[in-house]
Amino acid sequence: MIEFSSQIISPISSIGIIHSCYPEKFGIPRQPGLVKSSSGRLELFPPWNREEMIKGLDVFSHIWIQFLFHEAVAEGWRPTVRPPWLGGQKRVGIFASRSPHRPNHLGLSVVRLTGIRKEKKGLFLEIAEIDLLDKTPVVDIKPYIPYSDSVPGASDGFIPPPESVRREVVFAEAAAQSCSEYEQRTGRRLRSLIAETLGQDPRPASQRHQTREYGMTLWDVNVRWQALGERFLVLLIGEE
Ligand code: SAH
Repeated sequence: MIEFSSQIISPISSIGIIHSCYPEKFGIPRQPGLVKSSSGRLELFPPWNREEMIKGLDVFSHIWIQFLFHEAVAEGWRPTVRPPWLGGQKRVGIFASRSPHRPNHLGLSVVRLTGIRKEKKGLFLEIAEIDLLDKTPVVDIKPYIPYSDSVPGASDGFIPPPESVRREVVFAEAAAQSCSEYEQRTGRRLRSLIAETLGQDPRPASQRHQTREYGMTLWDVNVRWQALGERFLVLLIGEE
């Protein structure tokens, strides 16, 4: 008798880990490509950190990263979710969404590959335009192939184009000053990272009309900000 079991899958182990400018979930863009100044590194673990395993990858501008939504695993999965795109009101099926709360908690992001570094500490892929939390476990990497991975004329479904939610971000004097000091010391483009990250309005749909103060961490920096009419004002920047 032939038995089909939905339970049998090949075991999956992580081949690497993400080091990201986003140390906490709040603020992370809803998809890759939205925040051009976001960046991080993908560190490969042994035995997958052999240079031969990424031979030829450097000629691609973008890669697919398959990963585990590790911080959603403990929260379990849900049959339906309320995507932020629909104002947090309407429900859609989990398989009609990109929500982390899915069976197996697997995520998929196309990111820019900006470099490959071999260091004493290991083998690293430098990546940008990410939507990944720091310490995200990675399960696979593949090159992005434009002719087949991008489909001209494909329907956006219920997901609005990102320009329709973009906000203008302004900086208070003190915040702007701290930003440029941090940039000079670290070489990181903090100001544009803050502006682009806030520009895609990270607030939950239910809080879109509030004016309270928010905190968000980028790299090792605490950012305090609030809504000021249609714009967002960055009040203060402090290091951890
Ligand atoms: N591009 C991916 C992810 C979309 S969901 C995909 O389509 O599969 C994006 C959200 O996932 C982010 O806003 C962030 O809050 C969340 N996220 C990113 N990395 C995560 C992780 N390791 N664990 C839990 N949630 C994560």
